[in-house]
Amino acid sequence: MALEMRVVPCLRDNYAYLLHDPQSGRTAVVDVPDTAPIHEALDKAGWRLSDILITHHHEDHIGGVMRLREDTGAAIWGAAADAHRLPPLDHALSEGDVVALGQERGAVLDVPGHTVGHIAYHFPQSKLAFTADSLMICGCGRLFEGSAAQMWDSLCKLMALPDDTLICSGHDYTLGNTAFATSAEPGNAALAARIAQMAQDRAAGRPMAVATLALEKATNPFLRANLPAMKAAHGMEAATDAQMFAHLRALKDRF
Ligand code: ZN
Ligand code: FE
Repeated sequence: MALEMRVVPCLRDNYAYLLHDPQSGRTAVVDVPDTAPIHEALDKAGWRLSDILITHHHEDHIGGVMRLREDTGAAIWGAAADAHRLPPLDHALSEGDVVALGQERGAVLDVPGHTVGHIAYHFPQSKLAFTADSLMICGCGRLFEGSAAQMWDSLCKLMALPDDTLICSGHDYTLGNTAFATSAEPGNAALAARIAQMAQDRAAGRPMAVATLALEKATNPFLRANLPAMKAAHGMEAATDAQMFAHLRALKDRF
């Protein structure tokens, strides 16, 4: 049985996610920017928190972890590589480790770039991937700690997931991201259609932080750094995919 999922807007533009296994009753939250909206979402759904899954060490993703742990007794999962700068972990994770929520098994992926210890959680049965500040909607995280080559490898790893995977990211940066995407690839018709759809979604108050991987591949410029047409449009025909990615990331930083 697939996991139930709720998007929980937190702080100014962060997103946390609740994951619930109806069979076992296990309920996890992915990242804890703040506690009040998470308690509210749990109460509304009638779920009891059992697990806290951390993607990376930035304060806007872990700021509420210790309070939520005190409130609920939930177990804390996070990257072993970053254990020294995360709240105390009950389960220290490395790539290939599994997070079990009832029958559903979530795979841990190392996705360094934004930070060196950033991990993602992929739940294949439910077709969900929690990518936080690695792969973002129509964008990717800034390179605060890792190299462009590392981030490109991370994005390639995520691109290899099934196309119908729902990418659940850490923030709503879609306005800036789609503006940059248009400047990087002005002739992309799928992108233009998506921006029109996003305007409707935004007006209707629908969350902007989730999208299928297929849609990301069609419209996210950072996932398109390997395309000859993208390289040609930027006069970088001879560039490697990672070099093209680095170029796009640098353009976005100055955008
Ligand atoms: Zn971050
Ligand atoms: Fe963040």
